[in-house]
Amino acid sequence: MLKLFDRAKVFSTRKALVSNKTEYTYNELIASAEAVAANLLSGSKDLEEARITFLVPPSFEYTAIQWGIWKAGGIAVPLCVLHPLPSIQYVLEDTQAEIVIAHKDYVDFLRPLEAILGVSVVPMEDVLVAGKATLPNFSPDRRAMILYTSGTTSKPKGVVTTHTNIEAQITALVNAWEWEKDDYILNILPLHHVHGIINVMSCALWSGACCEFLPKFNDEKVWEIITSGRLTLFMAVPTIYYKLIAFWDNESEEEKKKMSEAASKLRLMVSGSAALPVPVLEKWRTISGQTLLERYGMTEIGMGLSNSYRGERRPGHVGLPLPTVEMRLVDQENNPVGANEPGEFQIKGPSVFKEYWQKPDATAKAFTKDGWFITGDIGMLNHGLYKILGRDSVDIVKSGGYKISALEIEDVLRKHEHIADCAVVGLPDEEWGEVIAACLVPSGEALKTEALNTWLKTQMPGYKIPRKYIIQRELPRNVLGKVTKNEVKKLFQTK
Ligand code: ATP
Ligand code: MG
Repeated sequence: MLKLFDRAKVFSTRKALVSNKTEYTYNELIASAEAVAANLLSGSKDLEEARITFLVPPSFEYTAIQWGIWKAGGIAVPLCVLHPLPSIQYVLEDTQAEIVIAHKDYVDFLRPLEAILGVSVVPMEDVLVAGKATLPNFSPDRRAMILYTSGTTSKPKGVVTTHTNIEAQITALVNAWEWEKDDYILNILPLHHVHGIINVMSCALWSGACCEFLPKFNDEKVWEIITSGRLTLFMAVPTIYYKLIAFWDNESEEEKKKMSEAASKLRLMVSGSAALPVPVLEKWRTISGQTLLERYGMTEIGMGLSNSYRGERRPGHVGLPLPTVEMRLVDQENNPVGANEPGEFQIKGPSVFKEYWQKPDATAKAFTKDGWFITGDIGMLNHGLYKILGRDSVDIVKSGGYKISALEIEDVLRKHEHIADCAVVGLPDEEWGEVIAACLVPSGEALKTEALNTWLKTQMPGYKIPRKYIIQRELPRNVLGKVTKNEVKKLFQTK
């Protein structure tokens, strides 16, 4: 059985979760998880290999169900309450799950899938009723969870992790970021990606700390909770910091001071899941006195690189490998590259996933012959810390023989006074292979692309200057706030 549960027993009467204004202890969480396990087992001895999907908003019940599936020996597959039905159908089909446990608000929404897929929709209350069963004993190398990737580069892939993988993902962060039982974190993230499930919720529960759920992000509510003074930690994606900054900007001087003071008291604030624009880091530092700790991770590996908790956190960099993570930066022939040279990140270690669900070919292609996981992300070692240059497929523009990092161009564009946000992509071009194109979100009416080009010439070499622009009010993003670059490319096609 997972060590997480043995630890939870020791934390017994401590506060584990705050959900819908109710506090729950570790004992209450264990009791509910065991009831879920008993109801799921209903007579059978073990749920080995059973994929149990569940569509429940972040809450005490969500956690009890996830733990219950683990206790029954099954594979937990969390679904996202923000996803439209076709995305959910995709996961149910891909996992061939027999049941989907649903919060009452989603039972009717899921019903049509019963006829299409033959899946049973089970109301959440039915699995939470009291129950007792003998729980199975099993090896920690058993499959425990399938999380789907964000689908940024192609269709989401089901990433299978074992209990051992999950424990390694949790403990790497608990150690590096010095989690302890008096910590208190707010979860505002969806719980179908590692950021929410592992970095926030599971690290808290592993440590005997408390995790409060805010089921849906709301800038005012988050500021209210920060100002209450109860948080010691906060973790979010860059767009959330962007929204918190915008909210702060519109407050009175007196309120701003109160909010800033409260934010400065947290012991750690983390950003990840997408590149943190340097202006956002800087503005957040001015507001809160906090230098955001940026880290890099993937569904397949948990977290890989992290800026230091106690040492230097350099803007635009993601730090060094976490203690149990082995990392190398290589060229196309898998030979190590030197400092300041771009290479692809490859990762080894106990946190690396087992396989893509029922995709043996994709799994085989994702590893080198000697067992390194090929991330597809390009980076560089720069004065002792790693920097992400982007994804090989969508962020590295191959133009006229150059390999150009879209993220670097975005950083420059964001410095321009009339640009609020931007996304750079490569568009196919007969002459150049690809040309650089930028989708711009202006901060007012004054943005003119000719004047922008004149300014860019003072900032970067000519071959890095975008050839095409498109102006949008917002960038296309997925539920985690990541820019979906394939959608950005399509915007240029429809122009
Ligand atoms: P798919 O694999 O389906 O295309 P995805 O790679 O976006 O989608 P995730 O596993 O959720 O799915 O995201 C991992 C990716 O997020 C990494 O490979 C990397 O490109 C990006 N990422 C994570 N953290 C950072 C960061 N700090 N800076 C830049 N990119 C980051
Ligand atoms: Mg990926």
